[in-house]
Amino acid sequence: MSKKPNLAIVGATGLVGSTILKVLEERDFPFENLYFMASAKSAGTEITFKGKTYTVEELKEDSFDKPIDIAMFSAGGSTSQKFAPIAASKGVVVVDNSSAWRMDPDVPLIVPEVNPEDISWHKGIIANPNCSTIQAVVALKPLHDKYGIKRIIFSTYQAVSGSGLKGINDLKNGLAGNDTFEAYPHPIAGNCIPHIDTFTENGYTKEEMKMINETKKILGDDNIRITATTVRVPVFSSHSESINLELEKSFELEDVRELFKTAPGCVVMDEPANNVYPLAREAAGKDEVFIGRIRRDFSIENGLNLWVVADNIRKGAATNAVQIAELLIK
Ligand code: NAP
Repeated sequence: MSKKPNLAIVGATGLVGSTILKVLEERDFPFENLYFMASAKSAGTEITFKGKTYTVEELKEDSFDKPIDIAMFSAGGSTSQKFAPIAASKGVVVVDNSSAWRMDPDVPLIVPEVNPEDISWHKGIIANPNCSTIQAVVALKPLHDKYGIKRIIFSTYQAVSGSGLKGINDLKNGLAGNDTFEAYPHPIAGNCIPHIDTFTENGYTKEEMKMINETKKILGDDNIRITATTVRVPVFSSHSESINLELEKSFELEDVRELFKTAPGCVVMDEPANNVYPLAREAAGKDEVFIGRIRRDFSIENGLNLWVVADNIRKGAATNAVQIAELLIK
């Protein structure tokens, strides 16, 4: 892979796509040529990036006939399902933000702070995990390595930006007193909706099953027992998560705090006496995973509670995807 690749941003006009552009610019990602793609609706739209104006082209079967090294897809599952294999067959490495390929055994699912080594076995498609999973595994990896994780109970409080521009509009409209809604089955303003993505036959939502299955795949451990309840809350940016853990080995709380202080991508915010703990509004716009409310779960042996917050569009999507692209050109 060239150190200065030709890049394509598929879904460039969306919330994740436009944040990828911001992150590429902030991190000064090197590239030779840049292509922007979206649906027919946005074809012809102009995007200015680093002082140069580009025209968005419609994603078509022949879009990857030109020399493209890396394509970052954020255009929905069905688009990735169809176009990622076409791109890969033409020698493009796809970094895919949708859920389409995450559990495919031939596709590595990567969080660069956790399993960067998995980049070595990609076959043209690399998946970016679900936003709520990414922030969780950044916090869980150092614990799993040191103490072993037996069981996890995830309870999430997820921002409306996780549903793209539609979710943001539902909350804005609701706060303005307009209770029409499009992104969710209920108004989101003033509500907590325990329903993210569709319900599956076992009573869990797909979002809950993503957290369960993706966490095992990224940590490379099928033996961890995991359950999850995922909830949409009236917050614009950043997902907050209560993570309850049962560890294999005993631990000292001070050692756990120290572990997080040096773990890649983690920031400890844990001074309850001063009202210091991670907050969604403070995490918004940042790339780190914030960890606080670190305390013992007295109800079981080796039990631990955490409160973990991160910007779902940045670390949960765009930043993680750009970090994967950085691994590719290393
Ligand atoms: P969004 O704001 O609705 O943007 C969707 C983007 O996809 C737009 O650029 C749209 O282009 C493009 N698109 C739609 N259909 C297309 C097609 N048939 N061909 C080509 N482009 C098409 O959604 P988003 O929140 O950015 O999410 C995008 C993807 O990232 C989804 O797969 C989502 O699951 C995933 N993701 C989102 C988050 C999150 O927190 N929001 C986190 C992780 C992953 P037009 O302008 O032409 O419509």
